[in-house]
Amino acid sequence: MPVDKDTMIEAVDVNKEYRRAGAIIRALANVNVSIKSGEFVIVQGPTGCGKSTLLNVLSGLDLPDSGRIIFDGENIARATEDRLSRIRRQKIGFVFQDFNLVPTLTCIENVEALLWPTVLREKEIENRAIAALRDVNLLERKDHYPVQMSGGEKQRCGLARAIIHRPRVILADEPTGNLDPASEKDVMDLLKQINKDMETTVIVVTHRASLASYADKVVRMEKGAIVNIK
Ligand code: ADP
Ligand code: MG
Repeated sequence: MPVDKDTMIEAVDVNKEYRRAGAIIRALANVNVSIKSGEFVIVQGPTGCGKSTLLNVLSGLDLPDSGRIIFDGENIARATEDRLSRIRRQKIGFVFQDFNLVPTLTCIENVEALLWPTVLREKEIENRAIAALRDVNLLERKDHYPVQMSGGEKQRCGLARAIIHRPRVILADEPTGNLDPASEKDVMDLLKQINKDMETTVIVVTHRASLASYADKVVRMEKGAIVNIK
């Protein structure tokens, strides 16, 4: 079957189970979904329905028990750990609910840190971090430590870190879960702007139905299964 060039990520017949205290939990039950390049996708559903598990298998952080994950034309359900970490480093920007900033680094250092393992020169890394912080309207906080920033500012720092290497895809797991409504809007508006301006594919996982209006496509999950895509 020819690969559709417009397809960024595709999950085909994906299953994943967890065993806990003798019980089997179907975290992903025969999941099929296709995400186009440049699409803004929201995966929405109640807590425990499998959203994080889906995001983790889409990026190769977790392996499905069966099925295929075609990421940028490559079946990553069969890739080596080396290959997976290279794909994640080069092609994916991650955004976390609890920000995952290093407390001992300043805002700009947290953003730069993503590029420290690369061969880029210090000055080039700094220039890119400054550009990324400007993109999320946070340049004036660049020398602050995480403890000196509000939740909304910390997440904007997280967004700058997610775009500094110009990834093809941003994966955000409950990115506004710890934010007040005003900061939630800031962060969602910025994700939308990045999606439009940089043509980055964006996948946001959330339990909040109210965020659906940001999406080109809403994938609804219940009990490990996709129940609706529109
Ligand atoms: P969501 O992100 O929608 O809240 P998850 O993907 O985190 O849901 O979890 C889906 C289901 O799988 C839940 O029932 C959860 O308890 C279970 N689960 C997730 N990760 C693990 C794990 N590492 N071990 C056992 N069960 C897990
Ligand atoms: Mg989750």
